[in-house]
Amino acid sequence: MPSQSVLVIGGGLAGLSCAVALAEAGLRVRLLEKRPHLGGRATSYTLPDGSEVDNCQHVTLGCCTNLADFYRRVGAGGKIRFYDRLFFVDAAGRRCVIEAAPLPPPLHMAPSFLLFDALTLGDKKSIARALLAIARAGGHPAGADRMSMLDWLRGMKQTAGAIERYWRVVLVSALDEELARTDAKYAIEVFWKAFLGNRGGYRVGIPSVPLAELYEGCREGMQRRGGEVRTRCGVREIRVAEDRFAGVVLEDGSEVSADACVASVPHDALLNMLPKRMTEGGGPLEGLRRLRTSPITGVHFWFDRPVMTEPFLTLLDHTTQWVFNKTLLYAGEETEDGAARPMEGTGGEAHQGDAAGGQYLQLVISASYGLVQSSRQEIIELCQRELGEVLPATREARLRKAVVIKEVNATFSPEPGVDRWRPSQQIAVKGLFLAGDWTRTGWPATMEGAVRSGYLAAEALLSESGEPKRFLQPDLPFEGISKWWAERNGAAV
Ligand SMILES: Cc1cc2nc3c(=O)[nH]c(=O)nc-3n(C[C@H](O)[C@H](O)[C@H](O)COP(=O)(O)OP(=O)(O)OC[C@H]3O[C@@H](n4cnc5c(N)ncnc54)[C@H](O)[C@@H]3O)c2cc1C
Repeated sequence: MPSQSVLVIGGGLAGLSCAVALAEAGLRVRLLEKRPHLGGRATSYTLPDGSEVDNCQHVTLGCCTNLADFYRRVGAGGKIRFYDRLFFVDAAGRRCVIEAAPLPPPLHMAPSFLLFDALTLGDKKSIARALLAIARAGGHPAGADRMSMLDWLRGMKQTAGAIERYWRVVLVSALDEELARTDAKYAIEVFWKAFLGNRGGYRVGIPSVPLAELYEGCREGMQRRGGEVRTRCGVREIRVAEDRFAGVVLEDGSEVSADACVASVPHDALLNMLPKRMTEGGGPLEGLRRLRTSPITGVHFWFDRPVMTEPFLTLLDHTTQWVFNKTLLYAGEETEDGAARPMEGTGGEAHQGDAAGGQYLQLVISASYGLVQSSRQEIIELCQRELGEVLPATREARLRKAVVIKEVNATFSPEPGVDRWRPSQQIAVKGLFLAGDWTRTGWPATMEGAVRSGYLAAEALLSESGEPKRFLQPDLPFEGISKWWAERNGAAV
């Protein structure tokens, strides 16, 4: 078996993680990627004027254990810096910080939550009640199945302020969907795994380099093991004969054969590659046609001077949801314990400017349905206006350059009941496996979900070959009172 040859189609995180795992298991892996660069949606590229931009700012969380494992495997672990203070700002420019206190979970966030100025006492009481219900049920409160998060929150008697300034703020950016269109199961998991279950789950991990640099070790690691990475190599068709994988046809018409194949392209691309009998008329993958997508808009601003001191800010009461201080994030300093500390006061000033003394910011708007029809100029003006409210220095600064990147089909929408349309990594075709954030991972469309799918596909392939191996990493262990509640409710600890 170890000389088995495998094709991996698609060089996003799902394909890369699968390919790296299979190469480590001793298989000959050829990865075929249509574009000139690796990383799929989580990548960066060079603009015609020479500046390198991320397709969109990507962040991970402490609870994303498989993504962290993948970065370590490919030598990129040191390029992610973790921040344990989260900065919020409201329309009046008031700042609040959320961070863990030395209390056992789920109480560790309580002190900064109590001091969070943007919420009223009534908002806080209602939020505390709902969070307690989640924690006491070990992350699985009864009756939350297949309902929208908005319905669940209403059932939990949440105040309008709590919904708008707390639940919506966290969840729309985490899940790229409005609360009314989000399966409560996914939304509750975010709070359980990131904020309630253990002390480190909420920490925000941000690359200190452009995204494409995270994948430099993938190509080299695969080639060292006899594999190959081919970019600008699009696949047109996956052949299936008598329920077995039977090779692929490339866009240039040439054919490539292998013992097995992992298709890790976006779900809509897969629909065009497979025989119609699999994707239409009751075929096993017909459900993929039901997956809907939601948009994300990224806005890149280059100012002529420093305008922001925090590494990143979450905005309340605005269309813009996050602002990332790219100049500072790329220059971030590590502390002795290896954790990046947001630089405040004099310590950070040296890193504020770019080469020309300016500052580069990236703004993110998830579930940006309202901007899909807007022109780039309208989006730039809206974001500039909002920045003026929360970062007054931008009013005086000159905007040297602005770039808007609209991803209209950024992620699949985590609608209530969406899991029934998500196929497993192993299907009823021998030698053909699926990977991608849209496959059934238990996670929403995230980098963590993509890597989980890649590892699960690699495990399924090796199992079918009779040489099972495990790649999937466990979740962070539950801690404190949450551990006890998790055990009592039969959640994996
Ligand atoms: C704007 C934006 C912001 C996001 N922010 C975050 C974030 O902050 N945190 C987070 O966790 N997640 C975020 N995500 C989601 C995350 O990027 C995705 O969930 C993840 O990258 C998906 O990986 P994937 O490998 O499943 O798919 P993809 O990254 O889409 O990879 C699929 C690959 O297949 C290739 N391909 C397509 N067709 C063919 C073909 N015919 N032949 C060969 N190759 C082909 C594509 O070029 C691509 O490289 C964001 C997504 C977007 C779009």
